[in-house]
Parts: sequence; C-alpha cells; structure tokens
Amino acid sequence: MEGFSMRGTPVITDMQVIPVAGYDSMLMTLSGAHAPFFTRNIVILKDSSGSTGLGETHGGDDIAKTLESFKSYVIGQEIGNYRAVIDRIQKSGLTAGDDGEGIQKLNLKKLKFVVRAETAIESAFLDLLGKFMNLPVCALLGNGQQRKEVETLGYLFYISDRNRTDLPYIDESSNSDAWFRIRRRETLTPEAIVEQALAAREKYGFRCFKLKGGVFKGDQEMEAVRALKKAMPDARISIDPNGAWSLEEAIGYCRGMQGILTYVEDPCGPERGFSGREIMCEFKNATQLRVATNMIVTNWRQLYHGTSLRAFDIVLADPNFWNMDGSVRVAQMLDEWGLTWGCHSNNHFDITLAMYVHTAAATPGNITAMDTHWIWQDGQDLCRNAMKIKDGKIEVPNAPGLGIDIDMDRVMKANELYNKMDSHDRDDSVAMQYLIPGWKFDSKRPCLVR
Ligand SMILES: [Mg+2]
Repeated sequence: MEGFSMRGTPVITDMQVIPVAGYDSMLMTLSGAHAPFFTRNIVILKDSSGSTGLGETHGGDDIAKTLESFKSYVIGQEIGNYRAVIDRIQKSGLTAGDDGEGIQKLNLKKLKFVVRAETAIESAFLDLLGKFMNLPVCALLGNGQQRKEVETLGYLFYISDRNRTDLPYIDESSNSDAWFRIRRRETLTPEAIVEQALAAREKYGFRCFKLKGGVFKGDQEMEAVRALKKAMPDARISIDPNGAWSLEEAIGYCRGMQGILTYVEDPCGPERGFSGREIMCEFKNATQLRVATNMIVTNWRQLYHGTSLRAFDIVLADPNFWNMDGSVRVAQMLDEWGLTWGCHSNNHFDITLAMYVHTAAATPGNITAMDTHWIWQDGQDLCRNAMKIKDGKIEVPNAPGLGIDIDMDRVMKANELYNKMDSHDRDDSVAMQYLIPGWKFDSKRPCLVR
C-alpha cells in the first residue's frame, strides 16, 4: 500500500464487535429445532468524518473472536482503500480455513469453515464509503445498481409446540397481528402450513414461497407443497430438505412435481462415494426439475466443479459465504451462463437484510426471489429505519450507504440477551430432546423420523 498516502478519504477511528441475540420460534429443520434465541455479531465502524458503518454476520463466540482479531487491520485505514484491507484480512490466516468438507452434509459445526466473517467488515466499509460518496451501497458493487426493488420469498417452516418444552420461547399469542400469532404456534400439518403461508402473504404480499423440509418423510412434505399450490395456484413454491433424501428417494418424491415446484433446493447430497455435486447432477438428469443449492457450491472451487457437472440451476450465493462483492461476481457469471442467482439466509437482524438487499440490487439479469428469515424476526429491529417487505418486495432505499441507522439502545438490549445465554453456539439438538429423548443429528434422516 506504499506510494498512495494521503488519498483523502476518511480514516477508521473505531471498530466495535457486538454479539447480539434475538427471539425465535421452535422452527424445525434437518438439524433439529431452533432454540428460543438466535445469535449474530454486529460490526460498527466509525470514521474520521463522524460517520458510522454497519455490518452483521453469523453469531457465536468463535466468530466474535475472529472479528476482534481483525481490528488491527481495520483501525487507521482509509475507507477508500477498503479492498486492500479485506484482502489483507483474507491473506492473514485469521479467517477460518476450510477443512474441505464444507456443508455438503449440513453439519452446523462445519459452518464456521464456510462463513466469511470479514463480510461484516466489508459491509461496514461500504456503508461508510457510500455515505462519503453520497451513493447507495449497491452502486459500489459489481456494475452498480441494477434494480430498484428486490423480490423476497416467504420462508415457511414446520413449527413444534413450544409448550412441550420448558425453554423460554417467545409467546405472541395475544398479539393483535395475525402473522405474529401464527409464527409462534404449532404448525405440523399441510393445512397448518397453508394457514401460515396465507398469513405471511396477507402481511407481506409474497408471490414466492419456500418450505423448509427435512422434518417429515419427503412424501408427507410433498403433500404440504401440493396443498400450498392448490391454495395459491399463482404462487411459485420450492422446498429445501437440506440434502436429507437419498437420490432414489428424491427422484421418487419429485416425480410428478413439474408445474408444482418452481425449483428443488438441495434434495440430496453426497452418497456411496459420490460427491453432492455428482448426485445432484444425476437428480437433475432424472427429474429435469430446476435445482438450487447453498450446500454443494459455497466457494469458487466448488462453483467450478458444480458448473462442470451442471449440478445446479440456481446458486444461493449468501454474502456470508462469498462476501458481498463475491456474491455479485457469482451473479454476473451465472447471468452470462444462463443460470440463476439467489441468496440463502439464516435467522438475522435488519442489518443483514440491508446487506442482502444491496447485494441483490447489484446483481444483473433474472434472479430468483431472495431468501430471508426476516419475517420470523420482524419487530426486533436494531435500526431505526429497517427495510420493510411490501408486496413481496423490498425497495432499495434512496439514501447513501446501506440506508439504515443503528439504534444503540436496541443493540445493547440484544447484547444483554446474548450475555444471559448459557451457550452461544447454535445447537438445534437441545430442544429436540423434549420431543425425542436421545435425539441425534443424522444428515440422511428427517428430524422427526426416528
Ligand atoms: Mg438451503
């Protein structure tokens, strides 16, 4: 970085890493049942012009520690030179090294090898640079802003009855908002899933839905998908069992689902010595359905092999795995190749929502409706002007940077909640013990099939 001193953009004067927690429902996935609380890490950068930049990424003490270790790379650096800062962090060896397996088998303990914590710093820098240049973050990514609004999907989940546990799940049964009531109550039948979808559509205007599978046997979950299509014939519907099905099962469950499923996400994974990419290629050949993934293509080398095998149609390129800049680069390549970009999500706060929206706003071509868990957290804003889903879409704010302003009172309350938790590591097997004593994660068995 020699030879370019005094560029004249503001300098980072402070970096805060604040771990936070929020409330969640007993949402069911292949990994088990969501705990009453989810965790995230917030990054707040301050620069010498007095501006604040925001970023958010996955939660837990490992990631908080990793982010803390980046401070010496960030403080004192000019915002205009942020790419060099991110590059130095990535070359520092401080970011988690991939052990090679990735999340093909969805082991949550492996997630830290896939999450790129520096994305939270990239976001905070972009927020500051956008404010300095009076441009929205999406104008600073890829070829600049490509769209004014971003479509999001309604992420539907089976929910277990929290009253079967003594865990402190949030109770919204007396809330005046129908969605807020429905999102906390037991939802285990096709009828209840349809009710959940209709309530979400009523509140947010979704045209596109995804059912999180890997909970019951696949044919039972397909019944719910058919019920959704029957109730909402114009809606686009997909399912994501997180690779729970064998190739043979996946082909069986998906037979006859053309015209009902818009795409299938990670129907199967590695088996019998074949990689998840090879098995997904065989699934596509057999069913001719469109296939999406956030499990077999989570980095550039995997993208090469997945593309060579034609193992997918849609990459759900979560900025937490690819960085914001990398996710847009993926989108540009997919668009040139006639393939499709989308975005995977986990539980998150409104800063992530803004990061996703700006990333998606910089992607070219026909992207698929963005995943977001936001509807399960709606009402827990950390910012004063959190983005809103209206008519199934989020409008890109006409403001510099991310276009959101942090509310430190709310952040510190979310930090208090985090500090009250016994453990900060996600473990979806804990709540499962109340439903099935001795329950253990099995990447090939839906969580309620034991
Ligand atoms: Mg997925």
